[in-house]
Amino acid sequence: KDASQGTTKDPYPDWKPGEPVPYAALCTTFSKIEMTTKRLEISAHCSLFLRQVLRLTPQELLPTVLLMINKLAADYAGIELGIGESLIMKAISESTGRSLQHIKNDQKEIGDLGLVAAKSRSKQPTMFKPKPLTVAGVHKGLMAIATIEGQGAQGRKVDGIKKLLSAADAHNAGKGIDIEKDKGGPSEAKYIVRTLEGKLRLGLAERTVVVALAHALRFHEMAQDGKTPSTSDLLEAETTLKSVYSELPSYEVIVPAMLEHGILKLKENCQLQPGVPLKPMLAKPTKSITEVLDRFEGKDFTCEYKYDGERAQIHFVAHDAALEMATEAPAAGKSDKGVSNIFSRNSEDLSKKYPDVLAKLPTWVKEGTKSFVLDCESVAWDIVEKKVLPFQQLQTRKRKDVKAEEITVKVCIFAFDILYLNGEALVKMSLRERRELLLGAFNEVEGEFAIAQYGNTNDLDEIQILLDDSVKSGCEGLMVKMLDGPGSYYEPSKRSQNWLKVKKDYLAGVGDSLDLVVLGAYYGKGKRTSWYGAFLLACYNPATEKYETICNIGTGFSEAILETLHNQLSEIVIDRPKPFYSHSSGNKDQPDVWFEPRYVWEVKTADLTLSPRYKAAADEVASGGKGISLRFPRFIKGREDKKPEMASTSRMIAEMYSKQESVTKNKGPSVDDDF
Ligand code: ATP
Repeated sequence: KDASQGTTKDPYPDWKPGEPVPYAALCTTFSKIEMTTKRLEISAHCSLFLRQVLRLTPQELLPTVLLMINKLAADYAGIELGIGESLIMKAISESTGRSLQHIKNDQKEIGDLGLVAAKSRSKQPTMFKPKPLTVAGVHKGLMAIATIEGQGAQGRKVDGIKKLLSAADAHNAGKGIDIEKDKGGPSEAKYIVRTLEGKLRLGLAERTVVVALAHALRFHEMAQDGKTPSTSDLLEAETTLKSVYSELPSYEVIVPAMLEHGILKLKENCQLQPGVPLKPMLAKPTKSITEVLDRFEGKDFTCEYKYDGERAQIHFVAHDAALEMATEAPAAGKSDKGVSNIFSRNSEDLSKKYPDVLAKLPTWVKEGTKSFVLDCESVAWDIVEKKVLPFQQLQTRKRKDVKAEEITVKVCIFAFDILYLNGEALVKMSLRERRELLLGAFNEVEGEFAIAQYGNTNDLDEIQILLDDSVKSGCEGLMVKMLDGPGSYYEPSKRSQNWLKVKKDYLAGVGDSLDLVVLGAYYGKGKRTSWYGAFLLACYNPATEKYETICNIGTGFSEAILETLHNQLSEIVIDRPKPFYSHSSGNKDQPDVWFEPRYVWEVKTADLTLSPRYKAAADEVASGGKGISLRFPRFIKGREDKKPEMASTSRMIAEMYSKQESVTKNKGPSVDDDF
């Protein structure tokens, strides 16, 4: 039974209307969520808590939601946690008066820094009872920690963490806890530390919070009229919020609007707006042009060149547009014509990387184009030969504080979609219509701005020619997209069946390359003794928030790269694997060193196989604990534009594996992989 529809008993008697939300109450909910694996229960605990916030302290709904999804702000604000273990250990030691050695020993034994903090805090006798932590206070404290920069930043971060920890678990201090029993307990110190590490590990996915939030608000609204929502009322609220969030992924904008206008009026009040980046639509890999023809049989589609650069979502509002940027990202470019921003695939603000693009952008805009959001690829450009350059060239461009006059790697922007124009969201318009608008609103300028090359054809030979031409002109292959009807609408954050990618170099392999997280390394042998010679890689399982190992890799690295990697990785060595790493426990399978999860690498493989040594998608393939692993993996490049959580997912890997199996065994089609 959905508990959110049940009990009316007040589970937090100390929390009175209008008073700040106690952090302890949120931790009690976290603990309940941690103790169950049942989806409905998780969602119910979450929604019940949010209903309580709505009833008692609605003005703190926003920080509550943010802490539940383990974020401090929308992605484009660039405020992130993921604090390294060594700083956290230092803060635990200093705030609880236990020696760093004790903390390190505990960490070796327990393996979960959150529990180490809980234990240390519970051992500490306190003279006076600190003021209880509040949700808003913890959010503010974490925000301060995340945004500290400049000289002495590390020390000041430690101070910030100490401040939070010294106020945590006031009720338990000095009592001691039994770690085994208290694993899922509601310790505030535990959840603060996990939040700092960037992983709450409650099994609480963001989409569950979104659904719970919609339900809670609908319950709350209807309760005011003495009514209880029906299943269809809840579904309506849920669909509305999901759809609004996909166009405007910013709780900072949505939550106040929900409270002001009510959930059912949200669509009218919250639409895609320049200034808030959307999560980009993604494509499914295909292995051949015939597969494309099979998938799109009977439909009209278009084949665009697949440029090899980095994704760039460009937002612009002219000064005379009678419209403002919803939220101006920190590095917004301002010209006499308007305000503009460039965001990455990750919704990271790239404006500091591209001052040259921001400066020229107003010159590409036709008279009458007042505001827009473009989906583009930014590609390195050879000004002498007048052609695109490989991605590797783009990588040599500085990422931050770029001065326009010092730029050596020029880029050309290739626009392939338009999502918003002159005050109107276009995501629910056909691609054919969007493209017309795109062509009509901009001027192409050679080497600066162009509309992606395309051909609308269903003919296999013509597609083959387009593919060959795209490769000859330095592209990776083709993006094939449905042209008409709802199937051609822009689907933010979805890996869609309606966008297919055909890359030149995977026509013969398993399909796409993989993006994997580096978890560990082995010391090199022979010539490579001063660096790491091989690495342990993992995919990500968003359902469990775990990294599941998938292969060791030692191929594809030049000596120069090995040296750079050694420098990067030695900064983030940790003593033992994080509790959210899933790997074989066999002695001979352990790497020489473990790392914080930070770097994502693109890797190619010959094929996939099952192995007891690795854990990738082990639950999904259900083969007695064996995971999927890569045969003959090869390093391609670092993916600085991807966060570890954006690595290939276990589900994607399971899908690739079953596709490979279905080729050999002729099984049916495999599962989908939408967010
Ligand atoms: P994925 O985004 O699928 O996880 P990825 O980031 O490695 O993986 P690919 O799958 O190789 O990217 O291809 C999709 C990317 O191709 C887009 O994110 C975009 O940056 C780029 N791209 C280049 N040309 C186009 C185009 N015409 N249409 C859409 N995307 C394009």
